[in-house]
Amino acid sequence: MKEEKARASARVDGRGPGDGRAFIGMPAFPEAAAEAVGNDTLRANLRHATRTIRDKRAVAVAELDDWAELREAGKQIKDRTLHRLDHYLVQLEESVTAAGGTVHWAADAAEANRIVADLVKATGESEVVKVKSMATQEIGLNEALEAEGITAYETDLAELIVQLGEDRPSHILVPAIHRNRGEIRDIFRSEMGKWGRPAPEGLGDSPAELAEAARLHLREKFLRAKVGISGANFMVAETGTLVVVESEGNGRMCLTLPETLISVVGIEKVVPTWRDLEVFLQTLPRSSTAERMNPYTSMWTGTSDDDGPSDFHLVLLDNGRTDVLADEVGRQTLRCIRCSACLNVCPVYERAGGHAYGSVYPGPIGAVLTPQLRGTTSEIDASLPYASTLCGACYDVCPVAIDIPEVLVHLREKVADRGGRGHRLEKAAVKAAGWVLDRPGVLAAGERVAARTRGLHPGRLPGASGWTDSRDLPRMPAEPFRDWWRKNRS
Ligand code: SF4
Repeated sequence: MKEEKARASARVDGRGPGDGRAFIGMPAFPEAAAEAVGNDTLRANLRHATRTIRDKRAVAVAELDDWAELREAGKQIKDRTLHRLDHYLVQLEESVTAAGGTVHWAADAAEANRIVADLVKATGESEVVKVKSMATQEIGLNEALEAEGITAYETDLAELIVQLGEDRPSHILVPAIHRNRGEIRDIFRSEMGKWGRPAPEGLGDSPAELAEAARLHLREKFLRAKVGISGANFMVAETGTLVVVESEGNGRMCLTLPETLISVVGIEKVVPTWRDLEVFLQTLPRSSTAERMNPYTSMWTGTSDDDGPSDFHLVLLDNGRTDVLADEVGRQTLRCIRCSACLNVCPVYERAGGHAYGSVYPGPIGAVLTPQLRGTTSEIDASLPYASTLCGACYDVCPVAIDIPEVLVHLREKVADRGGRGHRLEKAAVKAAGWVLDRPGVLAAGERVAARTRGLHPGRLPGASGWTDSRDLPRMPAEPFRDWWRKNRS
């Protein structure tokens, strides 16, 4: 019900589902998660899907004797690149320009959306096809284009399900992971005809039938589109090459058939050389889809007279990333290659689902990335660093060794530091306790006073009733341990 309200208010605000901004106004994580946990179908869908991917990933990773070395290499390449990000971005710009592309710099979502909308309008087109892209979801590109009279068609199967169902993505890799086959069949039957070619008569819910329906629906869009929009998994600075890693072939269609290609990519996606890329092309498929080698890896460098788009634009997106880079603990978040392995092992994600995180980045990575990109001023963003048990499973599987629990604790400290009276009292109490514990004589005197007045101690602590209402305060002993020891053991 609350989800419906959030969706409705997003529409009233002129923001549609699937828009990164559509999550704004959602309740804080504990409230949203509590509602999701009560949804048996959602939990069953998530449990089945995450456990299946998790087990397959473990097998795929165990096949490699040098997995630990690859993981360490990935971490070091990312850290080295982030350390000199300005240098590699300028090198990338020079390479892309030399290869016939045009580079645009976007400081925030509004600027990126403006650039893309202007580029599409300059072509005279009112439709674009899209490759699945987290960056364009983050900035709410589809809705920004819609406001300009441009329709964006998602072509990834899961993104198509989300778009047709007027839903929001709930997983980085499998955005419709919260849907089962029956639900998808119903969405296709009722919605496909409103967007183009309708679902075939008598559509069933077998994977083959659903995939065929999507294929037929999308094909006419691929063949008609003059403008394609993508993100990129990697950008190679030394040659200006962009790389998209996907499993369905829809990306290959969007990247090669249209005359104009616009790629919106976060600045942290740059890698210096092809040797560096080699590491990630081994770790990403095994971590995300448990494949030894990715099915469709598309790479392009500028434009070519004979093949592919004749006009290529790269929009380099900051949108808070340089602020993340400035944070010594938080900057490791920018190593993320969006494999989603951390989501699939997270006990909190498995139960709460992706929508509860109030962002296009759900799960453990979302709990650390979103509050850094958006700040912690809203209730939902301030609650995200607490959306974890700190069990560390996310760190164990991360192919670039992001210590997510460390960043979570760091962000909790930041949120708490901005806290209200309760937090100030807690800090004062800890400071006073430190002073007493530093002085054994004062501590001993305090213990004796506490023991003699134990009959007067309250059962509840004022200001901490949230804690003491559901827990018994331990009863103070009649004499301090140090006095007992002196009498009985000295
Ligand atoms: S944080 Fe690590 S495990 Fe999670 S999506 Fe990013 S790279 Fe993958």
